[in-house]
Parts: sequence; C-alpha cells; structure tokens
Amino acid sequence: MATNKKPGNWRKRTQAVRGGLMRSPFQETSEALFLTSGYAYETAEEAEARFRGEVGGFQYSRFGNPTVSMFEERMAALEGAPVGRATATGMAAVSAAMLSYLSAGDHVVAAKAMFGSCRHVVESILPRFGITFTLVDGEDVDQWRTAMRPNTKLLFLETPSNPTLSIVDLKAVARIAEEGGALLAVDNAFATPVLQRPMEFGAHIVIHSTTKYIDGQGRALGGMVLCRQDFLNDHLQPFIRNTGPSISPFNAWLHLKSLETLDLRMRAHCENATRVADFLAGHRKVTRVLYPFRPDHPQHNLARAQMEGGGGVVTFEVEGGKKSAFALANALGIIDISNNLGDAKSLLTHPETTTHQKLTPEARLGLGITAGLLRLSVGLEDADDLCEDLDQALKVA
Ligand SMILES: *Cc1c(COP(=O)(O)O)cnc(C)c1O
Repeated sequence: MATNKKPGNWRKRTQAVRGGLMRSPFQETSEALFLTSGYAYETAEEAEARFRGEVGGFQYSRFGNPTVSMFEERMAALEGAPVGRATATGMAAVSAAMLSYLSAGDHVVAAKAMFGSCRHVVESILPRFGITFTLVDGEDVDQWRTAMRPNTKLLFLETPSNPTLSIVDLKAVARIAEEGGALLAVDNAFATPVLQRPMEFGAHIVIHSTTKYIDGQGRALGGMVLCRQDFLNDHLQPFIRNTGPSISPFNAWLHLKSLETLDLRMRAHCENATRVADFLAGHRKVTRVLYPFRPDHPQHNLARAQMEGGGGVVTFEVEGGKKSAFALANALGIIDISNNLGDAKSLLTHPETTTHQKLTPEARLGLGITAGLLRLSVGLEDADDLCEDLDQALKVA
C-alpha cells in the first residue's frame, strides 16, 4: 500500500481532503472501500508474526481495516489528536471511552446538560459496576472544582450542549482535571473539529457521534474516540478489539469521504443558522433564542473564545407552551420533524416530549427545557426558504 505523500505539516483543509490517504496498488484517486472481514497471509509464519505483533498488517476487521484506518487518521489530523478509533455509533464511542478506562471504586464528574443516552450511561450503567458520579452545572467552574474527589478519574462534558447550547469553559475544566490527576473527555459532536478542537484547550479525550455533521447527510451511524497513544494502547484498543463495537467499513468510508466537505458544510450551516436565529429573535411569538454566536447568548464571549463559529443548531422558545410548539411543528412545509441533527435537511424537535422525555420534570426545567422549547438543526437549504417556512408556521402557532 502506498501512503501519504508528505503527511504532517498540512493545514486542516488539506488534511480534511488528503489526511490518512492510503492507496492500493491500483492508485485509485478516491479512497477505496475495503469491505472485508478478514485478511489472508502469504505463509503460516507471516500469520504467526502478525499475531505476535512483530510485523504490521491487518488481521481482522473487528480491530483493524484499511478504510477505517484512513477515517481514523483523517479525524485525528483534524482534531489535532495523536490517534483515534472509530466505533459503530457515537454511543459506542462514549461507552468504550468510559468502560475501557474506569474501574470499580472510580468516580466521574459530568455536566448535567448531556445527550440523553450519555446521561443513562453515567447515571444507570456505570453505578452497576461500582463507578460513582457527580453531576454539575457545566457552566459553573466552581461546581467542577468542588465535585472533585481523590478517586475522580474522568470528567465528561458536551459543549455546546444539547438542546440549550450552553457552553463549558474547556480550558478551566481541563485545568481542574489535570490538577486532580483525572482525564477530561469532551463530546464534540455539535461543533465538529472545524469549529472547535478541545485538545487545544487541554482536553485529553475527544468523542464524536460521526452520525451527525461528519456524515452530514443523515445516512449512516458512526462514532470516534480521539486520544493519546498511551490511552489507546493501555485502554481503548484492547477494549475495542475484544468487545467489538467496531464500525462497518462502509459507514467509515461514507464518513471519511464526508470529511472532504466538512469545512464547506459547517461554514454554510453556521451562515444559515445565524440567519434563522436572527429572524426568530425578531419575531413577536418567539420568547427566547439561543445561539452561541449571538450577542444575547449568556456565554457569548466564551463561545467566541473557544469556537470558530456558532454551529448549525438554533434553539428557541415560542409563547403558548406545548400547544403552540406542536402547532408550529405540524405547520412546517420544508423543515422536517425529526430528533436527528447535523443533516443537510433542516430538522426540528420538541425536546420535552422526545429526546428529554425520560428526565423528570425538575431535571428538565433545571436544564432550561420548557414546554415551548424547540431545537432546530438548520440544514443547507436556502435560508430565505427556511425563514419563510418558519414565518408561516409561526402564524399558526
Ligand atoms: C447523537 C449524539 C450522541 C450519540 O451518537 P449516536 O451516533 O446516535 O450513537 C452523543 N452525543 C451527542 C452530543 C449527540 O448529538
């Protein structure tokens, strides 16, 4: 296999197109899809040497595949991470990062405003294995500090968070982790490496649901854990190799090819989201608009300090609670009702009754999820059409 011409010193946009490229002897220009479970060996001696780890090469696609490797290398280059491992879904990435590292007796500190399934892993699965946790308001740095215990091993957060787009100070929390001898893991699904690279602020692990903006077209599930070489060798690789949350080479290929346009797409998502947020903020039936790069976002300055764009998600509240929110959703003519996000198609969801339905009413209100709140993943359609669609739906709401 021929590898990259001159990897390493390229800028991000070049890495997004060429990072990790590995060509077969056919010298194909587009990355090859190696849809294979296994690999053949020339001799029995070669098989023995590969299993001993004495020579390189692939053995079995549960723990290594050329297409998946290209995807991992390209993602690592974009995040500025030493290495990465792809997984079948974002949740497989979150649980592999946690379960490969934590043991009975360990303690985790996590921000309350977390993707629903992440919260389930921390609150319901980890405790069954003797791993305790403390939930904090992610925006409040003091809460992170006071939650630390001698046995705290991992800090986990999402920024911007789902669905209220609250921002966590990455540098401050990374310092607290460092001082406590713990690792900081950041779920970077909403921002993508184009808009935010948590390792530049001291994060030790970055996790992605590549299902979202990395795929970008709502086609395939995938996830990724990015980390240092020692974390990979000591924890992640043996866990993934033996428990098998591996990504299909086909899904890895889709996401690998999607990285080529990620930068262009994220700029367009940000531009459209800004237009839509400004439109909504000027509408009399809209009582609140949350978008990190709008000056009225409570953590606007922090967002500008650690992100290069506000992202593609806009969250807003309509007057009249659930009844108006449902009437608006049902009246939309372009925007679909869907709990997914990061698609080229604009998607709207009502968090109270869908993604955050399982939380208690108190927990929901603690996160700012009110009955009139709607989360809009702004797609790549013409922003004028999206604003007109929202305008006619708001008339009904
Ligand atoms: C979607 C999502 C996940 C879970 O990813 P899947 O690919 O659906 O398993 C985790 N975190 C965040 C922030 C997400 O948006």
